[in-house]
Amino acid sequence: MKKYIIFLLASLLILLFFFSSESGKSILVNISHKSDSLKNYREVKKAEVIEMKYQINKHDSEWEKELTPEQYKVLRERGTEQQFSGKFYKNHETGDYICAACGNLLFKSDTKYNSGSGWPSYWEPAADSSVVLVEDNSFGMTRTEVICARCGSHLGHVFDDGPNPTGKRYCINSISMEFDKDTAKKGK
Ligand SMILES: [Zn+2]
Repeated sequence: MKKYIIFLLASLLILLFFFSSESGKSILVNISHKSDSLKNYREVKKAEVIEMKYQINKHDSEWEKELTPEQYKVLRERGTEQQFSGKFYKNHETGDYICAACGNLLFKSDTKYNSGSGWPSYWEPAADSSVVLVEDNSFGMTRTEVICARCGSHLGHVFDDGPNPTGKRYCINSISMEFDKDTAKKGK
């Protein structure tokens, strides 16, 4: 009788071990499936956005040839330039800020203000059609990414702590832009 109970307990333990390792396995499989499908979903979505929305579609290898490594890192790999390092952070001249990748008009100097953030800041884009806003959940934060509406390049992020009249702060990397100085207004 005692032997029988020991045998039963041993069988139970073996069964428990078997089931726990099996469920462990299936959880792992599920997680990897989930991340795979999310990854695929993101890639498909990105490809569709590029194909459907942007006038200028270039292969990464083309962008790599046309842009400097620093520009490529920010514009095409969604990087961020170092705070207070950008060439336009303290630019107070009158003119237009255009996309460094495609020349699209992005921001005008009369909406630029000093946010103290260390990046050029604007309270409004040159036109609603200048940029595309996309939810960005990278680095465990929910932010709104600002993208060039013509070529899909990464420009920066927009936040809700800007000044009047919009209350928005378009926080943009200098390296994502070129400055087109308004020579007509020069000297005024
Ligand atoms: Zn562009």
